[in-house]
Amino acid sequence: QTSVVVYTCDLRLSDHPPLRAALHGGGRVVPLFVRDRSVDGAGFAAPNRLAFLADSLRDLDARLRERGGRLVLREGDTVTEVCRVAAEADADEVHMAGDVSAFANAREQRLRRALEADGRRLYVHDTVSTAVAPGAVTPAASDHFAVFTPYFRRWSAEGLRDVLDPPRAITVPEEVGSAALPERGDVSGVSPGLCAGGETEGRRRLTAWLRSGVDAYEERHDDLAGDATSRLSPHLHFGTLSPVEAVQRARKAGGTGAEAFVRQVAWRDFHRQVLAARPDAAAHDYRTHRDRWRTGRSAEAEAEAWRAGRTGYPVVDAAMRQLSHEGWMHNRGRLLVASFLTKTLYVDWRVGARHFLDLLVDGDVANNQLNWQWMAGTGTDTRPNRVLNPVVQGKRYDPDGVYVRRWVPELADVRGAEVHEPWRLPGLERASTDYPEPVVSLPEGLDRFRRARGRA
Ligand code: FAD
Repeated sequence: QTSVVVYTCDLRLSDHPPLRAALHGGGRVVPLFVRDRSVDGAGFAAPNRLAFLADSLRDLDARLRERGGRLVLREGDTVTEVCRVAAEADADEVHMAGDVSAFANAREQRLRRALEADGRRLYVHDTVSTAVAPGAVTPAASDHFAVFTPYFRRWSAEGLRDVLDPPRAITVPEEVGSAALPERGDVSGVSPGLCAGGETEGRRRLTAWLRSGVDAYEERHDDLAGDATSRLSPHLHFGTLSPVEAVQRARKAGGTGAEAFVRQVAWRDFHRQVLAARPDAAAHDYRTHRDRWRTGRSAEAEAEAWRAGRTGYPVVDAAMRQLSHEGWMHNRGRLLVASFLTKTLYVDWRVGARHFLDLLVDGDVANNQLNWQWMAGTGTDTRPNRVLNPVVQGKRYDPDGVYVRRWVPELADVRGAEVHEPWRLPGLERASTDYPEPVVSLPEGLDRFRRARGRA
């Protein structure tokens, strides 16, 4: 028997149900990744993710070769290429991970039909990209949870499957050829501080995190300068780390830090079950939003200052500059820059979500769009009118200004928490910095928001 395993966002050998199922009969397996041009066409070809993908494909290939196998890479339309490879290998079965976006749903349906027409079967496996499958827990009167806390209660009570070991040996049919694997160095426009990809690196990070980071997570996860979060998000996004394994191992490690970490991983599953039920929420408001976001020249100029990290609010600018330098931003930073764009500048959340997707190495349709909607008040936040004040947030989560000075060199000489309000610096000191004035005053921003939402 021969099977094809179609890799998408699950680029690993460990804890991989489709691979396990394909190897079950003891036959040959084609591990296949298709570089799908329509994914690029839909605006997902961000350099940071392409570079991480290149690392991850190479690592996957190396791990397969250690076991006598290799990765097969094809380019083009996924459905066409999978059918072609299945025919070349004379495969009976195709296995892949379930996914939640509208694109993935359409791809799965087309693939199933095309394979069935050729007399082959498609098997789609859940709990590859989530710990608990979308739709596995639902409230009484709906197909998904719209509020996190009750979801988390049910999610926590679900039993997780056992973690699967990587296979010992794989035989790949010789007749199936592969395109050359991409290299990180081939991708231009990559952020200089981008992290490394690949399952080997993802596993190393998880082990290091559980050994020496997670215990302090509950107290320190919001400390912007301390950088005390796991940074596992790109690995969870590309599946170079299994969410089931991350949760199982964190639970085994135990403690309040591990519990808080597991709760964050559950947020990931939460957003995926929302998107699975409401694929349109990737582009449209999850909850109806009646007033109109600001548009036009001044809104665009303010959005551009936000993208460039030149809003005049130091903690906002620091976070935006971290994003362009690393292709990653601290969660507290993501929250406060999203609040600033949508609730102070009053610019559409889609503008911010697009910029994040262009840069984030962990940029993910479910997590990104639904977190943006959460902060914009069009999503699942039960307090949709909360506004984060960037000065208060800066002083609370970067009390000594270390994070701001790290990313905003214009303010490197300003001591302590004064760095959060450069407009209060004595005249001469202020005049000597090349740092912009605020794009809008906070009272004016709040006023825009209140008028738009009818809360004056
Ligand atoms: P940790 O704090 O160590 O958390 C562990 C894991 O839990 C993360 O790796 C992540 O997979 C998951 N997680 C944590 N917080 C959230 C959350 N709020 N929602 C969903 N999952 C979470 N995360 C993405 O993976 N991709 C995105 O595109 C993305 N866009 C975001 C946009 C905005 C506006 C906001 C506010 C948040 C966004 N997040 C996104 C969620 C969160 O900021 C990141 O997952 C987190 O900062 C990644 O860092 P970490 O791995 O060190 O997280």
